[in-house]
Amino acid sequence: MGKLRTKRIGVMGGTFDPIHTGHLVAAEEARIQFQLDQVLFMPSGYPPHKEERNNLAAEDRYVMAVIATADNSDFKVSKMEIERPGPSYTIDTIEQLHGEYGKNTQIFFITGADAILEILTWKEPEKVLREAVFIAATRPGYDLAKLEQALPKVEKTSQAQDPQIIVMEIPALAISSTDIRIRIKESRPIRYLVPDGVCEFIEKNGFYR
Ligand code: ATP
Ligand code: MG
Repeated sequence: MGKLRTKRIGVMGGTFDPIHTGHLVAAEEARIQFQLDQVLFMPSGYPPHKEERNNLAAEDRYVMAVIATADNSDFKVSKMEIERPGPSYTIDTIEQLHGEYGKNTQIFFITGADAILEILTWKEPEKVLREAVFIAATRPGYDLAKLEQALPKVEKTSQAQDPQIIVMEIPALAISSTDIRIRIKESRPIRYLVPDGVCEFIEKNGFYR
C-alpha cells in the first residue's frame, strides 16, 4: 500500500525574456535536491519599472517557456500570473496554488539569490514565509555574504517563527536574459545558452533585434 505523502510543487517565477539554460538548471537541481513532484514555470506579467522597448509580450514569453520545458515531463508552464489582472503578488499566487492543488500541497519557490532579497518588498512577507519555502539558488557573480547578511533582516522584518529560506548551490552559469538580448542585438551567438527550440523560435520571429 502506498504511503500518503504531501505533494511538493516547485514554482520557478520570472519574466523569462527569454527563458535560458540557467533557469532550467536551477529548476532541475531544485527538483532533485528537494524531491519535488513537479516544477511550475510561471512567467510574470511585467512589473512596470522593468518595461523596455525590447521586452516581449507575455504570450511570447509563455510560448518560449513551453518550448524550453517540452521535453521534461516534470516541468509545466503556468499562466496563472499572466492571466491574473493587476500586479502579481507572491501571496496571491501561493493562495491560488493552494486552491488548485489543495491546502496540503507544499510550495517551494525557486529564485536566484539576487531575487530573494526582493522579499523585503513583498506584500505580506510574514504570511508568504509561513506558507511557502524559498529556495535561493546562488548564481555567479553573486556574493553569498550579501544574502547571509540580509537574512537576519528578512527574519526581523517578517517576524516569522521559522523563515523558510534555503540556499541551494547550483553549477555556475553566467547566463542572464539581459545578456542574451544584448547578444542578439549585437549578432553574437546564443546557441547553448538557450535550448535549441527557443533559439529557433527567437530567430523565426526576429525577436530582440
Ligand atoms: P533579466 O536579465 O532580464 O533580469 P534573468 O536572467 O535574471 O533576466 P529572470 O526571468 O529575471 O531572468 O529570472 C527568473 C528567476 O531565475 C530569478 O529568480 C533569477 O534570480 C533566476 N535566475 C536567472 N538567471 C539565473 C542563472 N543563470 N542561474 C540561476 N538562477 C537564475
Ligand atoms: Mg532578473
